[in-house]
Amino acid sequence: MPKTSKYIFITGGVLSSLGKGIASSSIGLLLRQRGFSVTIQKLDPYINVDPGTMNPYQHGEVYVTDDGAETDLDLGHYERYLDVSMSKQNTASAGQVYYDVIMRERKGEYLGKTVQVVPHITDEIKRRMRAFDGKYDVVIIEIGGTVGDIESLPFLEACRQLRLEVGRGNALDVHLTYVPYIKSAGELKTKPTQHSVKTLMESGITPDILLCRAEIKLGKDIRQKIALFCNVEERSVIEARDAETIYEVPMLFAKHDLDDIICEKLHLKRSRRDLDTWSRFVNRIKAPRHVIEIAFVGKYNKYPDSYKSILEAIIHAGAINNTQVTIRWIDAEALTKENAAEMLDGIDGMLVAPGFGSRGIEGKISAIQFARTQNVPFFGICLGMQCAVIEFARNVAMMPTAHSSEFKKNAFNVIDLLPEQRSVTSKGGTMRLGSYPCNVSRRTKAFVAYKSQHIDERHRHRYEFNNDFREVMVSKGLVISGTSPDGRLVEIIEIPSHRWFVGVQFHPELKSRAVTGHPLFVSFVKAALQLHQENL
Ligand code: GLN
Repeated sequence: MPKTSKYIFITGGVLSSLGKGIASSSIGLLLRQRGFSVTIQKLDPYINVDPGTMNPYQHGEVYVTDDGAETDLDLGHYERYLDVSMSKQNTASAGQVYYDVIMRERKGEYLGKTVQVVPHITDEIKRRMRAFDGKYDVVIIEIGGTVGDIESLPFLEACRQLRLEVGRGNALDVHLTYVPYIKSAGELKTKPTQHSVKTLMESGITPDILLCRAEIKLGKDIRQKIALFCNVEERSVIEARDAETIYEVPMLFAKHDLDDIICEKLHLKRSRRDLDTWSRFVNRIKAPRHVIEIAFVGKYNKYPDSYKSILEAIIHAGAINNTQVTIRWIDAEALTKENAAEMLDGIDGMLVAPGFGSRGIEGKISAIQFARTQNVPFFGICLGMQCAVIEFARNVAMMPTAHSSEFKKNAFNVIDLLPEQRSVTSKGGTMRLGSYPCNVSRRTKAFVAYKSQHIDERHRHRYEFNNDFREVMVSKGLVISGTSPDGRLVEIIEIPSHRWFVGVQFHPELKSRAVTGHPLFVSFVKAALQLHQENL
């Protein structure tokens, strides 16, 4: 008999950026280590069909799943905490929901009825919410945006209806709110939380648990007050203090027995809590033995959320190497051949970031030249790898006009579209998206890292290494250490004479998980730590 899933709805109030994604992931982790299978779904009330075409400044990084969905960066947190792979079904936006309903209406599937937000849009939202019914013990559904936004309403209505359908004891509403500390009054204020809960109640939802973000300890009196005014049991008003690292949040929740309260309310029979491995991981982040500095060469440096998964992958790899990795942000547009040595002086490693468009390309290439000639560990990701190929072509293979056809046509385009892509004019649908297999050659840095000849990694790009130049580049010393199984697509390049120079066409950061990390990031940080120790 299929099991019935329990549902946890997570909403946010007062203001955005309170860390709903981290809260959802932390609850998921706590339930996972109590022995339950868990998945998390993110429903975003915006009208874009997906964040694929959104500017990183607007939306942060676009997270790509194995099945090629371009999604919200919160899915990255879910995967990193839960160690469970997400898919297209783990995410939906209002745009997608409306799009599907309108398409159905055009096909005449509503048989002449008036198509309305309730019940047609809400039914479609519920259908998506039920995608994992019976497949997991617990399905956590995070609703994007803030309670009170006009566009959230159909989503809240769907939560209310679904809870009624699955019945008592099978669903739970968790509301994340903010309790500000007002300096002049020297007090924590509960009013915004009261208002937020009131707004939620207008949609027919009474929260079972409140997670209260606060800069300082909540104290019993404040929790009592919130409980009284918001109609929530006192023990279910949980303090969510600012943590030193986001990975500490599950442990802070556990201290307040959040997992016990959830299991009790959902009638879940749990095993003993075991956070030992996780807490060892957190301790290594908080008190590492070594400190190194890595140059991060990118162009969205003012908005680090654009590089969320890379930064998290570095934290994981740091913890595994017992090392704190500090980042020296290098604005690719400000770096030139002339100032490279000065801007990069003393670094232990360099990571050149992915990206689209020509801004900062020459800076990235100059930075790579520095790393290559100075024997500094170098890790190039996607565009970072493509720039490394261009740099090698220009300065080692003596093709001074080498370029990518993304930026310059009819040059020595060592990076180019595949012949079959060249006639495509529209931007949508031409990217290589999602997981692809890759064969790794033995006796390479990549093989040492992965310890395997067969790997799968996720992609999000249009351009590729141009095979017309493969022979000449290899004859000059570039090693192609990873390719697609048919050998046609170059996936990993390296320079064997260098201490650690690896470029990858894919996005390894998307598969780095807390505790275990990603083999390439772990190797990269290890190489940087070695250089650091040699220089001591
Ligand atoms: N702009 C490059 C391409 O489309 C690289 C993309 C990336 O770094 N994700 O191929």
